[in-house]
Parts: sequence; structure tokens; C-alpha cells
Amino acid sequence: MTGAEGVRWDLTLLAPSEQAMKDRLERGVADAAAFVERWRAETIAAVEPAGLAELLRELAELRATRTEGEWWAFLLVQADSENPATFDVQAWVDSRLPHFDEAIRHFENGWLELADDRAETLALDESVGHDRHYLLSLRRFRPFLLSPAEERVLAAREASASTAWKSLYSHTLGALAARFDDGGGERTWPLSELQLARATHPQRDVRRRATAATQTLLEPVLPVLAQCWDAVLADHISLDALRGHADPMEPRNLENEIEASVVEGLLSAAEAHYDLGHRWFRVKARLLGVERLDTIDRVAPVLETSPVSWDEGQRLAVEVFADLAPALGVAAEAFFRERRIDAELRRGKRLGFFSISPSTRVPGFILVSWTGQLRSLVALTHELGHGTHLALAAKAQSDNSFNPGLTIAEVPSTFAQLLLVDQMLASDHELGRAALVSALDDAVINLFMSTAFARSERAAYGLRAEGQALTHERLSDLFDAEMAKVWGEAMSDELGFRKLTWAGAPFIYWRFYTYAYVFAFLVAAGLLSRSREPGFGARYERFLSAGGSDSPEALLRILGVDLRDPGLWDEGFAVIESWLDTMST
Ligand SMILES: [Zn+2]
Repeated sequence: MTGAEGVRWDLTLLAPSEQAMKDRLERGVADAAAFVERWRAETIAAVEPAGLAELLRELAELRATRTEGEWWAFLLVQADSENPATFDVQAWVDSRLPHFDEAIRHFENGWLELADDRAETLALDESVGHDRHYLLSLRRFRPFLLSPAEERVLAAREASASTAWKSLYSHTLGALAARFDDGGGERTWPLSELQLARATHPQRDVRRRATAATQTLLEPVLPVLAQCWDAVLADHISLDALRGHADPMEPRNLENEIEASVVEGLLSAAEAHYDLGHRWFRVKARLLGVERLDTIDRVAPVLETSPVSWDEGQRLAVEVFADLAPALGVAAEAFFRERRIDAELRRGKRLGFFSISPSTRVPGFILVSWTGQLRSLVALTHELGHGTHLALAAKAQSDNSFNPGLTIAEVPSTFAQLLLVDQMLASDHELGRAALVSALDDAVINLFMSTAFARSERAAYGLRAEGQALTHERLSDLFDAEMAKVWGEAMSDELGFRKLTWAGAPFIYWRFYTYAYVFAFLVAAGLLSRSREPGFGARYERFLSAGGSDSPEALLRILGVDLRDPGLWDEGFAVIESWLDTMST
């Protein structure tokens, strides 16, 4: 018993019924067609500010309906993945979404056709309000846009090209299961559960056996997984060449609105601090009572004397937000009060942690897999960080502008999880030091492993661009070479699992997405000391309410963080060093 039994979400806040959502989507599809009809390319070319404001309102509505439908279907499947009916709902919804995408693309491409000075004049007009940044920043894609006909062809082939390889990848992994016994009796374990046990089971022997079982499951499908990687990367490379991207990371940087030099500075800074990770591995080995830490011990729980009950977890998590600003506390508490969290473990529910905020019209939802381990509490707090961020942004922004890019999106969630640790230490909570262990473990994943992932991914693009096929042996070598630097001499890899990091990892779905975690973790760690300054709560609320209505640089300036400061990342590393000092005593 974890106390989370029966804690399920109430999706009627998102859709009163299946029929109501289907009706909403059907109306949306009709609205999308009407939108394209009303705002023809020549109309957009001649649009005046008042017309543009009207167009943006309609566009925001379409976007909201689209994401409400998409996430509703997603939530149904996540919560009840063994029910075939949910997949039918998802397929039905999926067939409607391209109509919305077509309308959104129609406007965005039309907007990119405008000459620079005209677009700027329109975007600077009072009437476009919160969508100014959306309009102006969209222009960054302009140099890489193909002709409207080419763009239509590319969009039409997407489902059977790259997307098909990604589904083959996830279906291959999803079908893997093995008989396993963690001491509670033998049963069939899906790969996702084995992965969790191999990382976080309190008993070393179980972690070792779960790792071996995972390896045995992955071994036969490595050639298929590698083929998926090969095809997806080759597709990116050929489209990058068509669009004129000089670097495989450029589309991601554009998406994140971060300059390549900032990313390179970030990754190099993380690499220069790999020794902090090595130091932590030695301390953790001592805490675990082993000679040397091994891959199977990397995120093993330590010092967790007792489980956290669901009620206690809820109290601790909400407190983090209430301490920051009253409005945030209210927003966090509402997730529990309005039953917008699914927390229990149950058959058919997918394992994991996520937060989704479909639109400014409906509230957000959170899924956690509550085990009572400290990890659950940290993850709950992280997801509430996302949820409260978008709850505040939804009140102030439009559906075109409330969602920030990945780098900014991960800042409030990471900051919240670090504040939780801070708070538990400050209040002498019995799990305070255990919480610090989890923060250091997370630092290794978010800073060092994420850096190694980005480097390995780049190397894979390099090989593929040279015409070398990405076989599973090559992928394993690439990843192992980078991960070995993170492990150093301080962590062994007895079973040879480290090289399989790529197999089953989600990097294939969204290229170069991991550096956002490096970015967010360092910004968040750096914010810890600032958060004690007077007036921080008000500034933080302003930052959250801004959502995605400005560039990361401008948004972070609200918090006093300067992306151009060469010493930018030092504060974050200093915090991690201080944690290490605390744990070394
Ligand atoms: Zn997150």
C-alpha cells in the first residue's frame, strides 16, 4: 500500500464525454477548413493589423481544440493501455489532427512569405498583443522554408516516412517482456518495468538480474532498433540538406531559440565538470557500502529509511509552491483538489511521470507512478512545476503563445524539484539527505549524461552523413565512448550495459532534445540562491505568467539570469559542489 490507491484523474474537466470531444473536434475540423478558405494566401499577403488580430484569435482557437483532442486521446491510452477501445479513440483523433495542422501551416507559411519590413510593422502593432513574439520569432524559420508545394508534399509523406520508423521503434520495444521474479513471485514483466527495477530497486541483486534480463530482451532486436536510427537520421540529413541547414543541431537550436554558441558553451562547461560526477560516484559507493559503484547502482536509492505516503508527498510538494508565491501554491493544490492527478500503480496504466496542459481553456493533468520511493516525490514535484507554470501562463497568454520552448519549459519543473530537496534539508526532514542523494543522481543524468547523449548523437549524424550505415555495433561504440567519460574510473560496468544506452532511449523521437536538460538544471540550480532574495516570488510569478511570449533570453532576464554572461553556468556548478561537500561529511 502506498496511499495512492484509487487516486485517478477525472478527465471530464477536459472532455465531459467521448461524444462531446468528438463533436468538438469535428467542429474544429470544419473551422479549420473555413479558416483556410477565409484567409487565403493573398488575403494574408494584404492583411491589416485588425484583420491579423482576428486571424490570430481564430488560430488560437484551432490550436486549442487540436491539442485538447490530441492530449485527451493520449491520456486515455496512458491510463488504460490494455483497452483496445482507447486505441480506436486515438486513431480517430489522429485522423482529425492533420486538418488542424494544415490550417496552422497554411497561416505560418503565408506569414513567412511576407517581406521582412511588412511583417515587422504588423507584429509591432498594438492589436496583436501577446502574440508579438510568436509572429516575430516564426520568421527565424524563413531562410529554411521550401516552396508551398514542396512543403505540402513533405507534410503529406511524414506519416509514412520518419514517423513510421519511430513507431516501429516504439512498437518493437513495447512488445518486449520477460518472466522475472523480484522476490515477490515470478510473473511477466514488460521492458519498462524491468528498466525501472534495474535502475531503482533497493536490492543490488535484483538490479543486477533485471539488468541482465533487459540485456537479454534487447539483444535480438538491436539490428531493428539500429535500422530505425539509421533511417530516421538519414531522413533528417537529407531534409536538412534540402532546407539548407548546415548543422544537424540547427533545427533544434532554432526551435529552442538558443544560439549554437550558447549550446556549445553549455556542453563544454558540463564536460569540464565531469569530475564532479566522479566525485559523487565515489561518495555514493561509500554510502552503498560497495568497493566501487557500478552501472547497476547509478540511481539506486540510498538512505531511504521509510517510504513517503501519498498524503505526506502531497503536503511536501504543495509546500514548495506555496513558499514561492501564494498563487503558485493555489495552482499546485488545485491539481489534487480537482482530481487532475493519476497517481496509483495499476495494471494497464503506463509507467512514468508527465504533465500536460492542453490549452488555455482547460486545466492541466499529471500522471505519476507513485511507489512511495523518494523518486516518486521528486518526480511529482517536477511535474507540478510544469503544471503550475502553464496554469499561470494560461491565464495571461493566448494559445499561440503560452507554451514555451523546451529549454525554458524545463526550468520551473527542475527548479521545483531542487527546492523540494532544499526544503527537506532545511526542515531536517528524516529523508533530507536521501533527497540530496536523488538531487546528485539527477545532476549526473541531467548534466553529464545528457551532455554525453548530445555528443553521441552528433557523432552518429557525422557517421551517417559520411555514408556509413548506423549498425547497432557502431551505435553502441559511439555511445559507449561518450558515456565512458562520464563514468570515468569511478564507476564500473560489469555487465556491459552502458553501451546499450541508445537502444530504447527516446532520443530518436526528438533530436538533440537532451541539452535542454543540461541548460535547465544549471539555470535552476543557480536560481536556488536567488530564490532567497526579497521580491523573488513576484519576479518568478511574472516569469511563469509570461509562458512562451518572449525569447528564452528575455524571459530569463526577468529572473536576473543573463544568457550572455560568460560565467553563467558557474553558479549552478557551485551549488552541486556544495551538495557534494554536504554528502562527503
Ligand atoms: Zn520535465
